[in-house]
Amino acid sequence: MIRANDNYSKLKASYLFSDIAKRVNEYQAKNPDAHIIRLGIGDVTQALVPAVIKGFHQGVDEMAKDATFRGYGPEQGYLFLREKIAENDFHSRGADISPDEIFVSDGAKCDTGNFQELFATDIKVAIPDPVYPVYLDTNVMAGRTGGFEDNRYSGIVYMDCLKENHFLPKLPDEKVDLIYLCFPNNPTGSTATKEELKVWVDYAKENKALILFDAAYESYIRDEKLPKTIYEIEGAREVAVEFRSFSKTAGFTGTRCGFTVVPKDCMVYSSKGEKVSLHSMWNRRHTTKFNGVSYPVQKATEAVYSEEGKIEVKDQIAYYLNNADVICKTVESLGFDYVGGKNSPYIWVDGKGRDSWEFFDLLLTRASVVCTPGGGFGRCGKPYIRISAFNSLENVTLAMERVKEALK
Ligand SMILES: *Cc1c(COP(=O)(O)O)cnc(C)c1O
Repeated sequence: MIRANDNYSKLKASYLFSDIAKRVNEYQAKNPDAHIIRLGIGDVTQALVPAVIKGFHQGVDEMAKDATFRGYGPEQGYLFLREKIAENDFHSRGADISPDEIFVSDGAKCDTGNFQELFATDIKVAIPDPVYPVYLDTNVMAGRTGGFEDNRYSGIVYMDCLKENHFLPKLPDEKVDLIYLCFPNNPTGSTATKEELKVWVDYAKENKALILFDAAYESYIRDEKLPKTIYEIEGAREVAVEFRSFSKTAGFTGTRCGFTVVPKDCMVYSSKGEKVSLHSMWNRRHTTKFNGVSYPVQKATEAVYSEEGKIEVKDQIAYYLNNADVICKTVESLGFDYVGGKNSPYIWVDGKGRDSWEFFDLLLTRASVVCTPGGGFGRCGKPYIRISAFNSLENVTLAMERVKEALK
C-alpha cells in the first residue's frame, strides 16, 4: 500500500491569498466601476532593465549556434556568474566569500525550503512570527512539528516580533539548533544592525547552532550603516548560511535566479558528535537534485553586475523605495504607527486596534485599495497590515490619496 507522508495533513491550508482574491472579486462584482489598486502581493511590477535584457538575448543567441551552444552546465552555476557575485556582493562589503561557496539556483524559495533536509528531524527550530511561510511549512512537511493548535504548530520555538522589541526576534529561552532570520524582513520591513546580528552569531557559536539568513531584500537597504550580508559580522562564516534572490533585486520573479552561500567553515554534527562539512552536504544535495539554472538566465543575471546593469537596477529599486516613501508619509500623516518602508519595499502598519481583516476590508471598500492582512503571516501579525510598494508611482499616489480621504 502506498502510504502518504502524514506530515502533510498537519499543514494548515494557506487561505491568505485566495481569501484576499475572493473578497476583492466580490467587491469588484458589486462595484463594477471601481478601479482597484493592488498593494498586496509581494511581486515586482517593472520590466527587466535594458542591460539584463541584452545579456538575456546574448545567451539565447549563443544557444542558437552549434559552436556556442551549451548543454548541461555546472549544477552550482557558471563560474563567470559566481565570480561576479563573490566580488560585488561580498568582497565589496569586506566579506570573505569565495565563488565555490556560492550555489546558484532558481530562487530563494526553493533553497530556503530545501535546506532543512540536511538536518536531523529531532532538532529544535526557532522561527520568527510573523514570517515568510516557507520556513515553517517545509519543517512541518519534514516532520519536525506536532499538530496545529491555537494558531501554532507544537514543537516549533516561535520568536515573537512585536513593537516592544522593535520587530526583532529575541534570543529564545530554550536552547535551539536552527534559527531562521530574515532582514530586511518580509512582512514587517524591519532591519537589523550589525550589533543586533552579532548577538545571534555569538549565540549560534556558543550553542553549536546554525543560522539560516534570508537576505532576499538586501538591495533595498539605503542606510549605509546596516549590514547587507550576515558575513559582515565577525564569526558568521562558521555559523550562517545566506540566501539571496534576484527576484526583488532585479525583477526576476518570473525569470528565476537566486543563490545560496554555504561557507566552508560551517560545521554540523553527526549523531556521534563528529563534525560534518555543511558545504559538502549542500554540494551533494544540490548536484544530486538540481541540474543548474538555464544558460540565458545566468547570462541575464551576470548583466545585473555590469556597469550599466548596476546603475539601472539601482534606479529601479530607487523607484520602488520612492513609492515606499509616499506610503510612509501617508500613514504617518494619518497618525498610524508603522515600521519598514525605509530600507524595504514593505510598510507594516498598526491598525490602531483593528483586526487585520477588518482593516483590509476598510481599505478595500472605502478606497478600493488592496493590502495584505498581517494575520496571514502569523499570530503576532493580527493587529497589522502590510502595504507593498510594488506598483507604479501613479497607482501608489492615487491609492494613498484615496486612503487619506477614506480615513481622515
Ligand atoms: C520573495 C522572497 C524570496 C525570494 O523568492 P524567489 O524564489 O527567489 O523568487 C525569499 N524570501 C523572502 C522572504 C521573500 O519575500
